Amino acid sequence: MNDEKVRVTVYRGSNQIGGCCTEISYKGTRIAIDFGSPLPEENTKELNITGLTCGQSAFDAVLLTHYHGDHVGEIGRINTDIPVYMGGFAKDVITAYKNHNHHFFADVDIDRIDELVAGTEITIGSLQITPILSDHSAAESLMFLIKAGGFQILHTGDFRLHGRYREELLSNVEKFGKVDLLITEGTTLSRKEKDKDNYTEEHVENMVWDCICENKYCFIILSSTNFERFQVFSNCIDKYRKDKRPSGKYFVVDDFQKSLFEIAEKRLPERYQFKTKTTYAKNLDEGMANKGFVMLLRAGNAAHEALLRKYLEECPSKTCLIYSMWSGYMNNGKLKELTSLAHDKNRLRIIHSSGHVTKQDLIDFVDTVAAKNVIVIHAEKTKEMESLKNHISIEDGETIVFETC
Ligand SMILES: [Zn+2]
Repeated sequence: MNDEKVRVTVYRGSNQIGGCCTEISYKGTRIAIDFGSPLPEENTKELNITGLTCGQSAFDAVLLTHYHGDHVGEIGRINTDIPVYMGGFAKDVITAYKNHNHHFFADVDIDRIDELVAGTEITIGSLQITPILSDHSAAESLMFLIKAGGFQILHTGDFRLHGRYREELLSNVEKFGKVDLLITEGTTLSRKEKDKDNYTEEHVENMVWDCICENKYCFIILSSTNFERFQVFSNCIDKYRKDKRPSGKYFVVDDFQKSLFEIAEKRLPERYQFKTKTTYAKNLDEGMANKGFVMLLRAGNAAHEALLRKYLEECPSKTCLIYSMWSGYMNNGKLKELTSLAHDKNRLRIIHSSGHVTKQDLIDFVDTVAAKNVIVIHAEKTKEMESLKNHISIEDGETIVFETC
């Protein structure tokens, strides 16, 4: 429709965390934001949108906030003549995964993806869109400030305000002036929040520091693309080498992780530097035993698992397994097996903080941006949403119309 109204449709995400997709349309321009996969426990059927995944294309673009699977997992199903935009970091990470294992993003044509640059506005039809560098457990996660005439929409993507880049993010959003509509993630509104979910990354770093000082041999389990957390480990190892123990300690990863580090160092060098990494090979075993180490444990890698078993068996008092991911992933499969192994010997340490904004920070954020209207996605329906000022309830498939003047 070609009038002065802004229309917002939540296709998916009004009552689930994974697989959000939101349309914003204005004066005949239609964009969609994010097109990911539901979480494994979310049994929703495949999302088909006429004009986006089937039928004649009617969307002008799809914009992706970051590389997590629940935001990009189904982009291969988008009609091939619709432009797809994401940050260069996300594009490189998806390319690396495709190259590493042909099952990952098998249906995604990398060449069709246009790169967004944080801070650089683009125009798509009647909409002006500025990507803003955010703070999340995915590096270079973007918020989008979308201008429809004088009407301003802020789509947060996934974000938090207890990470290292909280101040940078807040100072960016404070420059916008009024926000007529805030479309925000609300993961922690519906997930039971624990105190540790809002630990700052600095606090996490202090706990990791204590742990690696107390344990000569540290295995770590964390997401390969949580660069923020890898930086915590890298910082601790650098500090250990510099300040405390001249004999040092190895920081051991595998070739794939090293290639991901190189993307981070190339794309955001001011945020990420992993100076002391070493890739694991058998000939390191003796040196690692002498000096000590922090080693990424890749679940499913037989050599890594054998080392964990060996150290837990032969020198349990000097060994620990640091689990640094969402606790829900620990309940099944290989991660359950490995963490149980360490837990049974009292050598499991859980050191983590959420990538998602806490309830209180979200309440404050609504005030910070003075949002006149608030739509929550990326959350299960909960009455906690009502605690947000100016909240508008929406259902999947529903369109809400906003006057722009
Ligand atoms: Zn995410």
